[in-house]
Amino acid sequence: MAVGGGRSIKRKKPKRRVVKGRSPKRAPKRSAMAPKAEIPISAYSDLEDILAERLGKKPEFAGISRKALLLTDVLYTSTHQIRDFAYSTAVALGRQIYAESDKSVGAVLNAIEASGLGGVLYYPFDDMAIITAKPLEPHLNIGSMVHVYEAGILAGYMTAATGSNIICYETHCVHNGSAICQFVLRQERRQLRRYRYEIPESEVLIDRLVKVVMASSGGGRASGEYYLAHMLPIINKGTVENASAAMHVAGMEFGRRIAALNHTTLEMIKDAFGADRIIVRWKKDIPERIDVHYPQISSRSEVMLLSKRFITGVLLSRYGKDISISTTEQHGNNYILNISLKRK
Ligand SMILES: [Zn+2]
Repeated sequence: MAVGGGRSIKRKKPKRRVVKGRSPKRAPKRSAMAPKAEIPISAYSDLEDILAERLGKKPEFAGISRKALLLTDVLYTSTHQIRDFAYSTAVALGRQIYAESDKSVGAVLNAIEASGLGGVLYYPFDDMAIITAKPLEPHLNIGSMVHVYEAGILAGYMTAATGSNIICYETHCVHNGSAICQFVLRQERRQLRRYRYEIPESEVLIDRLVKVVMASSGGGRASGEYYLAHMLPIINKGTVENASAAMHVAGMEFGRRIAALNHTTLEMIKDAFGADRIIVRWKKDIPERIDVHYPQISSRSEVMLLSKRFITGVLLSRYGKDISISTTEQHGNNYILNISLKRK
C-alpha cells in the first residue's frame, strides 16, 4: 500500500510537508539532462506513453502560457460528458505516469507542477490525503473550479500506487477565488464519482472563454508536454468538433468586445492557444493575411482547429460584411495556419 519510500496515503497521524514536487535530489540541471527526442507530429499511438514517461520528471517549461491550459479547462466544464471524459483520460494517464516513474509521490507532484501550479504539497491522513497547490503568478478568477484534469491525474497515479480505487476531486480552486487549489483523495468503490462542479449555461461558458483569452496576465507558464497531455481528451475523442464550435462562438464574442484588432489583442489570442507567434500583414487597418505559428510540441491539427475557429470567429464579427476568409495549413516541423482575407 505504501506510496514510494514508505509514504503511504494511509497514515494514522496527519503529517505536514511530506514531500515537495521538485526535490533537489531528483532535479538534475538542464545541462546534465540528455537531449530529448522530438515528438513526431501525428504520432498518436505512442503519445500517451511518451508523455507519461516525461511528466513524472522535473518539468521543463517550454513557454506555453497557462492561459492555454485554462482555456481547455473551461471547455472541460462545459458538459458532464466531456468533464467525465477529461477525468477518465487523466486517470489513465496518471496510471501510466506511475508505471513510468520512480514510484514516489514526488513523481505525480512533478506532473502537477508541469501544469504551472507551484508549491505542490502532499498531506496524508488516516483515511484520505490532501494535495494543495497554487499558481506562481497572478491568476484569473473566473468563478469556477476547473482542475478536473489534474484531479484525474492524481486519482490515476494514487490508484496505481495503492492498488485500490482512489478518487480525487477539487474542493478549492484559485480560479474560484481561493488562495490555493485543494484536492482531496480518498478510496471509493465506484469507478467514477459525480462531482460538485457545476455545468455552466452556454452564455456563461462563452463569457468565461472570452475572459480567459482577454486576460492580460498569462498566469505563468506550463510545460509543453503537459499542455499536450492536457489536450488528450480533445485529441482522442473526436470532441474537437463541439469544442471548436464553442471556440468559434467565443471568437465572435471576443471580436465584439475588443476595441480594435491590433497587436495587443492578437497577442492575447496567441497566448490563449499556446501559439509561438502571430504574424500579420496589414492593409490599412484590416489584416490581409494572418500567419499563426505553433510550437512543435502542440503542432497537431486538433490544437490548431480550436484557434482557427476562434480567429475566424473574431474576423467574422469584426469585418464579416466586408471580407471573405480562406485558410490553409502548412505542416512542416511546426504547423503554420495561414488566414487570408479578401475585401468583397
Ligand atoms: Zn484549481
